[in-house]
Amino acid sequence: MVIRMKSHGEIRSLLQNAPYCPICYHINQEIKRQFRWLFIEYSHSGPYISNLVKGGFCHAHALAIMKSPAGPDMSYCYRILIKSYENRLRKLLTGTISGREKKKQSTLRLFKEADNEQKNSIISRRYCPFCKSQELFEQVAIGRLINALDDPEVRELYVLSPGLCRYHLERTISESNKNVQEFLIKKALDKIREMSGDFDQYFHKLDYRYSKEPKGKEQETWLRAMRFYDSYITHEEEV
Ligand SMILES: [Zn+2]
Ligand SMILES: [Zn+2]
Repeated sequence: MVIRMKSHGEIRSLLQNAPYCPICYHINQEIKRQFRWLFIEYSHSGPYISNLVKGGFCHAHALAIMKSPAGPDMSYCYRILIKSYENRLRKLLTGTISGREKKKQSTLRLFKEADNEQKNSIISRRYCPFCKSQELFEQVAIGRLINALDDPEVRELYVLSPGLCRYHLERTISESNKNVQEFLIKKALDKIREMSGDFDQYFHKLDYRYSKEPKGKEQETWLRAMRFYDSYITHEEEV
């Protein structure tokens, strides 16, 4: 389900400014904003830390935090997280973890003998707040884009934009009407034809006979192709 919004203004400016897939770009901008708030406020907020106790950040977002110069601001939060984990490990040792106290066996033994489903309920899960927000930003932006594409002026802006990446193209067409689906697929085909032409140019200039020809946008075709094929969610505070 996507969340549908009425305003086209944000979609217009997104289509005019995004240097790559507008949905990927929107997510990156919003996550960048959240990173700022993480260091200023969230990392000191009780409810936010309680969510992290349930599972912590995903690898990609944890890495981005570790690489940030504001990283030391996470000290307060991680002091609580490791303390809470210390308690969990103690419970594992003494045999009391989530309702299993009633049984007389040790939790460690139960843990070893549990089937995969039971193990999943015992092993800490990841509960990355950035990934959760990312999913929400994505849903809202896709809903807005679908609505806005009814407007011919927005379609013109879309044609001039870098267009959606493969993943967001498919997510968007899975929620659109036939008219929008056809429009998006035809525009994606135009972009692919353009990239294929640029790849031809790139390989042409690799040939030593033509290697003196001036280099241009074809040199970065691989990057545009990767951003199209694999999306471009940076997971970082700098976009
Ligand atoms: Zn995308
Ligand atoms: Zn994450």
